[in-house]
Amino acid sequence: MAAGGRVELGFVEEAPAWRLLSRYFPSKVGGRPAWLGQARLPVPEELRCGCCQQPCAFLLQVYAPVSGRTDCFHRTLFLFCCRNPVCYSPSDNRCFRVFRNQLPRKNDTYSYDPPPEEPPLEGPTCVDLQLQSGVPLCRVCGCLGPKTCARCHKAHYCSKDHQVLDWKAGHKQYCSIQSDHSDVALPDHKFLFPEYEIVIEPEEVEYKEEMQEDVDSSVNTKTCTDATAAAVSGMQLECLNEEELEAMAKHETKEDKVFEEFKKRIALEPEQILRYCAGGDPIWISSEKVPQEKEILNCPCGAKRIFEFQVMPQLLNYLKADSLDESIDWGTLVAYTCSEHCSCENKYTEEFMWKQDFLCT
Ligand SMILES: [Zn+2]
Ligand SMILES: [Zn+2]
Ligand SMILES: [Zn+2]
Ligand SMILES: [Zn+2]
Repeated sequence: MAAGGRVELGFVEEAPAWRLLSRYFPSKVGGRPAWLGQARLPVPEELRCGCCQQPCAFLLQVYAPVSGRTDCFHRTLFLFCCRNPVCYSPSDNRCFRVFRNQLPRKNDTYSYDPPPEEPPLEGPTCVDLQLQSGVPLCRVCGCLGPKTCARCHKAHYCSKDHQVLDWKAGHKQYCSIQSDHSDVALPDHKFLFPEYEIVIEPEEVEYKEEMQEDVDSSVNTKTCTDATAAAVSGMQLECLNEEELEAMAKHETKEDKVFEEFKKRIALEPEQILRYCAGGDPIWISSEKVPQEKEILNCPCGAKRIFEFQVMPQLLNYLKADSLDESIDWGTLVAYTCSEHCSCENKYTEEFMWKQDFLCT
């Protein structure tokens, strides 16, 4: 991921399971999180929806190291969201949780050299239900699983909610069987999102010229809007008559323009599900509910948070593949992260998420 100015786009692609393992440092959608650091993961309480208090599901992760920072040689952002459609009310960001974790190149978990571009010869070939340290993960969501089934002491969960889900989905039948259960395939709890790799490509440069034209035309429009104001305030304008001014005011509302610009920009790469530009600017889908600077909360370390990536509405098309949620919805999700990339003692640090909705008119 390059920082500053250049926008990079993310697209979903099918990928073999091994490529989405932690040691390949993937960017990915759905499935279980491919945790980066193995210590100080988010605790279950931190992964609950701020509205309904249910555990959030893993939505996506973005591998985004920071060049020139030895402590950010590896760096991944993890985004979680609630599966409950009623939590997606407008002007409410509480159904999302986003975390940042980073590691130096020399660390206790991963090899110093990049992994070979081939399937692993040993170890698990799909996301495991425990960390390399042996710390158990929840069978349902793949997050920390400090709770254990009281009967078999083999199944681990993040919460009572997920224990109940697993019990109904099949653990009821296997709990009493005397084995390590490793031969029993995990049931489909209908909780995880479908899994894909996120492939990153730079946004094409031609766009710049096109946008330049666009900026020019919006300057013209602005002049006309100023002209409208001038006309209203009683000044005489010869270039436009009243009817023309009237028509213009109707057609060129600010809202239309923001949405038109959004559509125009994504039309160049309609399949994009992610836009990445550390320290750059997001593109807004509406002129409503754009955060003020003071609404973007500072990092607990005291540093300002800056824009890092946004999730596009196109991602919803891929999530609906399992038809569980008809109506979790967003216009765009905008992630702001600590401008200092503070380490917080290698903890998974919570960052700031902003949801903007399509404006219903
Ligand atoms: Zn919720
Ligand atoms: Zn869980
Ligand atoms: Zn059990
Ligand atoms: Zn910070």
